[in-house]
Amino acid sequence: MSSRNKRIPPLLITVDGPAGAGKTTVSRSLAARLGFLYVDTGALYRAVAFEAVSRGVDTEKDDELDRLASGMDLAFVHKDGGVRLLSGGKDISDAIRTPRITMLASAVSARPPVRRALLDVQKRMGAEKAAVFEGRDMGTVVFPDADVKFFLTAGLAARARRRFIEYGDAGNQRFEDVLNDMKRRDENDSNRALAPLCAAPDAIIIDSTDMNPEAVTDAMAAHVYSRHG
Ligand code: C5P
Repeated sequence: MSSRNKRIPPLLITVDGPAGAGKTTVSRSLAARLGFLYVDTGALYRAVAFEAVSRGVDTEKDDELDRLASGMDLAFVHKDGGVRLLSGGKDISDAIRTPRITMLASAVSARPPVRRALLDVQKRMGAEKAAVFEGRDMGTVVFPDADVKFFLTAGLAARARRRFIEYGDAGNQRFEDVLNDMKRRDENDSNRALAPLCAAPDAIIIDSTDMNPEAVTDAMAAHVYSRHG
């Protein structure tokens, strides 16, 4: 290809880290500040879990999971100032946020056919537009050549507290249950064989335990500007 025809790939920023570290809030505001797209890849795993339940798929069987995950029609759309996830044209953004779907998403995300199918979906999204991708393996597996990588973490108790407040009355859960679910999810996500949760060697690590989201976003934006103007 001649240099004239070469397309400059869009700038990619990745944000990985455990549940409750504040990734969603800060990734969203960082993307808004930079005018980039925001992609919540956890929602894709949640969508697989949600569709498995809706369609009665046996999540213990790889061939059933493969058929489901590779045939999914997932798209993020902008609506009323926010981003919604459509599966087969249906808005499932709220339905994927229940405690049951949360735990099942963690389980199906360890399965090879699911990771394989969603890897393609994410790579396609990353080729389209400058974006902030949030997840667990963005900087290690999906976009190892990302322009700026962050690993956002926080103490377990602080993360569980944030999630407990977020669930509110609708969560109908005790604090201890939220804490235990989070601990189990941390263990699942960090110890699985495929794409385990870990910081890329070149990731900037930020501990948000004693920081508010604005301070975290400021710190991230400063890193991006210092590297890419
Ligand atoms: O980020 P969120 O909590 O919505 O993610 C739901 C689940 O999806 C996580 O517990 C994790 O198991 C899985 N996940 C993943 N890889 C990603 C994003 C999420 O395995 N890139």
